Amino acid sequence: MNLELSEEQTAVRRLAREFTEREIAPYAAEWDRAESVDRALVKKLGEVGFLGLTVPEEYGGSGGDHLSYVLVTEELGRGDSAVRGIVSVSLGLVAKTIAAWGSEEQKREWLPRLCAGHALGCFGLTEPGTGSDAGSLTTRAARTGATYVLNGGKTFITNGTWADVVLLFARTDPDEPGHRGVSAFLVPADTPGLTRREIHGKLGLRGQATAELVLEDVEVPASALLGPEGKGFSVAMSALAKGRMSVAAGCVGLAQAALDAAVAYAGQREQFGKPIARHQLVQELIADISVDVDAARLLTWRVADLIDRGRPFATESATAKLFASEAAVRAASNALQVHGGYGYIDEYPAGKLLRDARVMTLYEGTSQIQKLLIGRARTGVSAF
Ligand code: FAD
Repeated sequence: MNLELSEEQTAVRRLAREFTEREIAPYAAEWDRAESVDRALVKKLGEVGFLGLTVPEEYGGSGGDHLSYVLVTEELGRGDSAVRGIVSVSLGLVAKTIAAWGSEEQKREWLPRLCAGHALGCFGLTEPGTGSDAGSLTTRAARTGATYVLNGGKTFITNGTWADVVLLFARTDPDEPGHRGVSAFLVPADTPGLTRREIHGKLGLRGQATAELVLEDVEVPASALLGPEGKGFSVAMSALAKGRMSVAAGCVGLAQAALDAAVAYAGQREQFGKPIARHQLVQELIADISVDVDAARLLTWRVADLIDRGRPFATESATAKLFASEAAVRAASNALQVHGGYGYIDEYPAGKLLRDARVMTLYEGTSQIQKLLIGRARTGVSAF
């Protein structure tokens, strides 16, 4: 793996850093308190090309390699994980999945809008009764001639109330209770019978719209099917394998923000007659954050490098997600410790970083699920 960035990669990282410093970081605390990112930001993210990274230019994307995507995701995560998540889901889980699995008609219909930020996507897999065991989902898609009729419900859906299209997973074969009976659909969010309700009271990522979806006799044409019938679980797993790299990159950015905040505070706060940065145990906290940032970044870049070289990457992606998410929680907690009591007050960024970090070990597969994926790859035996 070449650790030297190309000129293009350096330029895209600089662009992302400047965009984040201008358009995101100054407002992140305000959006967190208001429980909503400014929606005007979505269009700006589209204009700068960040909602179309790695999507071919012929479909309105900005092209580019996966390392560039990781670099941008890291910078967005450094500014605000709520914003980073909006991009990771709409681009990483939805647009890239349409690009990989969609028909020509589906790509032409959705990708230009999603890449431009004129539309957002959400990923509807989790249900109230099925989280880690996603293959047992119960939302039903019944074929009736030229259409499918969808009934059921989804929960915890990022971008749920903002999205224009739902990449929705439903059971097309009621006689097959496992993942083989699941299919993927592209459902326009304004389809009659689809209702959405925002979930409030989240610990972190408060600026993000997280929603519950209810489907009552939602009728879509057979052309809404994404990929072959019965292959929906493969569609979901392929999306999540790359999605985990995106979460990991966001965690690197979050941990880097924790490091920046801890270093800045330790340099100016004095106790016992000197800056706390000169106390060895404070340096230990900062060194621990720094090691976590570096290790998480290298694991994440490795995934991008494997994808760009066309090599298998799923286990490495689970490894990066597991390590980076746990590292982000540790880093934010250590940064809060460096801030002492002030870290507990939302005038300083450490508290928000810790609240935002906490979900990273839960979504797109909990830490336990990542361990089972890695264990299965290493032993050849499934514990699921
Ligand atoms: P459960 O599966 O009930 O797990 C509970 C506990 O049991 C966990 O600790 C888990 O690790 C453990 N556990 C479960 N099975 C095993 C096992 N076999 N071995 C060992 N331990 C096990 N979902 C979407 O589809 N789209 C989204 O956009 C989305 N966004 C989200 C945003 C937020 C803010 C949150 C909180 C969640 C989001 N999710 C989304 C859902 C998320 O992916 C699930 O919460 C996650 O997969 C875990 O499922 P669960 O919450 O039902 O927990």
